[in-house]
Amino acid sequence: MKVLVINAGSSSLKYQLLDTDNQQVLAKGLCERIGIDGKFTYKAPGKNTIDAVDVAMPTHSEAIQAVLNALVDKDNGVIASMKEIDAVGHRVVHGGETFACSVKIDDKVMAALEECIPLAPLHNPANITGIKACQAVMGPDVPQVAVFDTAFHQTMPPVAYTYALPYEYYEKDKVRRYGFHGTSHKYVAQRAAAMLGKSIEELKLISCHLGNGSSVTAIDGGKSVDTSMGFTPLAGLPMGTRSGDLDAGIMEYLMGKYNMDIKEMLNVLNKKSGVLGVSGVSSDFRDLSDAGEKGNARAALAVDMFNYGVKKYIGAYAAAMGGVDAIIFTAGVGENSADQRMAIASGLEFMGVKMDAEANNVRGKETVISAADSKVKVLLIPTNEELMIALDTAALA
Ligand code: ADP
Repeated sequence: MKVLVINAGSSSLKYQLLDTDNQQVLAKGLCERIGIDGKFTYKAPGKNTIDAVDVAMPTHSEAIQAVLNALVDKDNGVIASMKEIDAVGHRVVHGGETFACSVKIDDKVMAALEECIPLAPLHNPANITGIKACQAVMGPDVPQVAVFDTAFHQTMPPVAYTYALPYEYYEKDKVRRYGFHGTSHKYVAQRAAAMLGKSIEELKLISCHLGNGSSVTAIDGGKSVDTSMGFTPLAGLPMGTRSGDLDAGIMEYLMGKYNMDIKEMLNVLNKKSGVLGVSGVSSDFRDLSDAGEKGNARAALAVDMFNYGVKKYIGAYAAAMGGVDAIIFTAGVGENSADQRMAIASGLEFMGVKMDAEANNVRGKETVISAADSKVKVLLIPTNEELMIALDTAALA
């Protein structure tokens, strides 16, 4: 089945056309500056690459149309006509408590998606715009599916998702831990089971999605039972520019001292904190390790804090599940930084983690990076959210 995967942001739209039968990417690319002017990028194996060329995109509809035009182009396209696209899968950030799995989109689902907007006011409207643009351009006959970042975590028990706030904020206002990166955590958990040759139901896994945004998830028997992000993606680990968890009392102190309103405070916590804030150098871990090697103590501290944070979650989630069979590293840092994987996993020998330095010296490839006699396996698994979205979409369509 040929599935078009769409990840729509407010002014950008990433796309991939995948064949789910052989799991091949047929074409992929990006529309940028939607609503401003419009830049179009397209890549397909064996075809000419289109790199950020000007294409007018006043709205997401023109962006989708540009994608379809490129896919069916006589010389450079990969399909003969739009009819070959069997279904469209949309990444949607927040599904609230309404969506515990992917769904085929109909009017009822669209209404429920609108209801979830207050939970993700920056992301969900863009996702909805992307869905409406596809419906408008492709017509009602092509099935559209929504795949949620939050859905995988809907299996968390109340003890993990409830905040210690007055309970009516949960009952009336739906304030609870939701968790994000669910599509990635679900994908790598499935791959881990395949790599270990075991059924996912019998495994306790800790999945570390470490990128610009980072989260750690405890997965027991294939189900998310706890995760580090919360009501929003601001919670948990320190990230590229996000603070992660902090004492809420700090906000009142700083807002009073520097006369900031809550918007300014949240801008600091979302955009100026994390490893960028601590190092004053960069949000990119490559820059930080370069700076650290040259003797920049704050850059080194930022990386150490991040690694320490991941290590603490691993310990906490092993305790929460009463053990762990495998730890998974994925996303930009998890897939590429052998040093950080080593720093995170070292010191966990007491709980049966023993790394293999040589095996760990790889990037971006599915591998076991723990020693042969390690009780807990450590796995490097490149994430593939687009493939997961395409597979869910094919199953529902
Ligand atoms: P996003 O959350 O934006 O999807 P990614 O998963 O692509 O992020 O991860 C991006 C991060 O991966 C960058 O901040 C970069 O620091 C990190 N990264 C990529 N390659 C390396 C590397 N070789 N060593 C350390 N970090 C890396």
